[in-house]
Amino acid sequence: MGICVTPTLLPELIRAASQAIEAHAEEVSALDRALGDGDHLVNLRRGLNALLAQSAELAQAPDLSTAFQKIGMTLMTTVGGASGSLYGTLFIALAKAVQGTPLKLDTFAQAFSQAVEAVKQRGKTQVGEKTLVDTLQPTAEALLAAAPSASPAEVVEKVKAAAVAGMESTRDLLATKGRASYLGERARGIVDAGARTAQLMICAIADALLNTPSVAPECKPERPTNA
Ligand code: ADP
Ligand code: MG
Repeated sequence: MGICVTPTLLPELIRAASQAIEAHAEEVSALDRALGDGDHLVNLRRGLNALLAQSAELAQAPDLSTAFQKIGMTLMTTVGGASGSLYGTLFIALAKAVQGTPLKLDTFAQAFSQAVEAVKQRGKTQVGEKTLVDTLQPTAEALLAAAPSASPAEVVEKVKAAAVAGMESTRDLLATKGRASYLGERARGIVDAGARTAQLMICAIADALLNTPSVAPECKPERPTNA
C-alpha cells in the first residue's frame, strides 16, 4: 500500500497549494514586507495562477517528468524574484530525477532530496540562513527517512511536522541571503516569508495526497521497464 503520484493528481495538488497560500495571503505579505520587499505573495500567486490555468494540460502529460519540467519552466518565467528561479530549479531538477522511475513515495523521496540539493546550489544557500531552504531541507530528510517503511498517513504527519519545525526555525535566525540580509539583528523574531509559503504548500500537498483516491495498492512504473 502506498501513495502513487501521477500527472492526473497535479490539478488537485496545485489547487491545494494555491488555496493554502490564499488563505494566508495577508500574513505572507506582511512577512515579506517586514524582511524583504513585500512582493513574495504576488510573485508566488502569479506562478500558482499560471499553473492553475495549465492544470488540464499538466494532467495529460505522458509522465511526471514531463509535467515537472513544464511546471518548472512556468514557475521560472512567471514568478520572478529570487523565489521564481529557486522553484523553477526545484521542479526542473525533479523532472530530471524522476525520469524512468516509478513514482512510489520512496522513489519520489530520493528525487525530492536531489531537487532540494539543486535549489541549495542555485541559491548558494545552506540550512540556517533564514530562507525557504530551512523548510525544504528538513522536509526532504523526513520524507527520505519515513517513505521506505512508514504508512502513508505516518509519512504525511512526519513530513508536515518537519516542514513546520523548519519554518519555525527561521524565526530566530539572522538572515545571510536575500534582501533580509541587510536587516541584521532586526530580522530576528520574524519568520522568513519564503520558508512560510514553502511550508504552507508542502502541508497542503501532503494532506491532498493522503486524501486522493489514487492511494493505490500498486504504483505502476512511469514507463514500461521492458522498453
Ligand atoms: P525577492 O527576494 O527577489 O523579492 P521573493 O520575495 O519572491 O523574491 O522571495 C523571497 C524569498 O526567497 C525569501 O523569503 C527566501 O525564502 C527566498 N530566498 C531569497 N534568496 C534566497 C537564496 N539565495 N536561497 C534560498 N532562498 C532564497
Ligand atoms: Mg520579495
